[in-house]
Order: sequence, then structure tokens, then C-alpha cells
Amino acid sequence: MGYMDIALEEAKRAMKLGEVPVGAIIIKDNKIISKAHNLKETLNDPTAHAEILAIQKATKVLKNWRLSGCEMYVTLEPCPMCAGAILQSRISKLHIGTFDEKTGACGSVLNIVQNDNLNFFLDLKWEYNEDCSNLLSSFFKYRRR
Ligand SMILES: [Zn+2]
Repeated sequence: MGYMDIALEEAKRAMKLGEVPVGAIIIKDNKIISKAHNLKETLNDPTAHAEILAIQKATKVLKNWRLSGCEMYVTLEPCPMCAGAILQSRISKLHIGTFDEKTGACGSVLNIVQNDNLNFFLDLKWEYNEDCSNLLSSFFKYRRR
């Protein structure tokens, strides 16, 4: 199973809770050190996005706020808040499963993670995993019903 598939498993756990299905995992030296999914509704916390929770877990595991050398796999393009947190955490590489044309901050609406005006550099890799977008569209279709 690829890393994006493992992030997708996390997204499905969010879906089961009625959360927007987004999952994120963090890898260091080819080992998964953190897994998280969106818990905004469950925790009543607008900052409880999968990426933020994954960063918080990873920094506890490493006992270091700097996640340089780590890679994140996330099923949906991060929003501005998460993109900012990813930069602050010094994550080295970001793999994105599908774009978010409404709030994506990695190129769709804004590009925070690769911006010459900010003093950060992040290696960005679009994976374009169809399952990531299908999961989201089925969630929103179900919720509209
Ligand atoms: Zn976010």
C-alpha cells in the first residue's frame, strides 16, 4: 500500500465520523511517524484539520517542532492555514492527492508553499489520486441529500 493510500484510509475514518474526508500522514526516514484525519466537527475546533493534527503528533514523536527531513502525504490540497503551518514546521516535501479549487493554498487559489515573497521552500508533488477526489465528491453528494 502506498503512502497516499494510507492517508486515504485516514480520510475514510473522518468520513465515518461525518467529517469532511481529509487525511494526512507524516513520514520520516521511510517510517510513518504520524497519522491524522480531519476532526473539526468532533472537536468543535476550526483548526483541527488533518494536516495540523498530523504536525502536532509528529512534533511530539520527534520532540522537536522542526519537521525538516519529513514528508507529508495529504489527500486534499491544504488550505491557507495548513499551508502556513506546513511551512512553519519546515516539512521538506508535500505530496497532495487532489486539488481544492475553493480554498487550496498550494497553487489552486493561492500558492503559499512556493512563494518567492516568503522565505521558505517546500518540495511539492501532485499525486492526482482519483480515489482522493472521488471520496470527497461522494461525501458532498451524500451530505446534500
Ligand atoms: Zn486546512
